[in-house]
Amino acid sequence: MPKPERRTIWMSLAAFCLLISAAAPQRLNAQGGADSFNGERAFADLKHIVDYGPRPAGSPALAEERRWIEAQLKETGAQVEEDAFTASTPAGDLPMTNILAKFPGTQSKIVMVTGHYDTKRFSDFRFVGANDGGSSAALLLELARELKGRKHALTYWLVFFDGEEAVRTEWEGDDNTYGSRHMVEKLTSDGMLGRIDAMILVDMIGDSHLLVKRDTNSTQWLVDAVFNAAHRIGYKNYFPDEAAGVVDDHIPFVNAGVPSVDIICFDPNDGYWHTAKDTLSHCSPESLTITGNVVLATLADLDIAPHGR
Ligand SMILES: [Zn+2]
Repeated sequence: MPKPERRTIWMSLAAFCLLISAAAPQRLNAQGGADSFNGERAFADLKHIVDYGPRPAGSPALAEERRWIEAQLKETGAQVEEDAFTASTPAGDLPMTNILAKFPGTQSKIVMVTGHYDTKRFSDFRFVGANDGGSSAALLLELARELKGRKHALTYWLVFFDGEEAVRTEWEGDDNTYGSRHMVEKLTSDGMLGRIDAMILVDMIGDSHLLVKRDTNSTQWLVDAVFNAAHRIGYKNYFPDEAAGVVDDHIPFVNAGVPSVDIICFDPNDGYWHTAKDTLSHCSPESLTITGNVVLATLADLDIAPHGR
């Protein structure tokens, strides 16, 4: 879950989403040809992930999901690593683990594509987080398959963050973004932070009524890069030039000076977010395809014309 800024005025997204969903997505890639991101396969992964049930940080179910994701990632030939740490939370110390899949390029500069794979803990109902937690993990996993065997200059790291969700009900203080904050600390202490040219975050992008706005808390040149890519390949209806402010796993990176962008479809009033209704039935392969193609197109653009910093 991310958090909207108080100053953000949320429009009637539901009505707008219904309107735009009538338009068939154009299936194009960065070169204007047929799309390559396999949203159907990502959706099958999403179903598998949801079948683990609720997956809060520190739970056996999340550990099972992690083992399965890592096994799948290893099949792509990626270099798979774990970043395990202990997080101090309002519920006491919890073991957490970020997952990294590395795809070396010809350059040492790194673009990270990230998302969270934990789900929010609820004791009063069963929360499986198909969109919130599941969709980002499924997209990253399929992205790993798409990157397999590709030639690229920049080095890609796919990062599955643990502990994005608040342990308590409310998103307050440091009770959230445990994995991303730890990753920034680790990269800083390893002297690696300066090699991260860009960080692309995906979150809640499986929603069958996909609508991604320009996040005002992200790095604006990178927001431009994402939206330019989305518009070029025919997805302007899903990536309109409308602003929203979201607090999410990109903020620790923004604060550390790493250009970062949050690609998120977030409406806290849609009736699904953090409810028992966040199930597969309101997610779609098409939304995963659209977002996956936008990420691939953005990566292709950055590879051709790295922004640097
Ligand atoms: Zn959430």
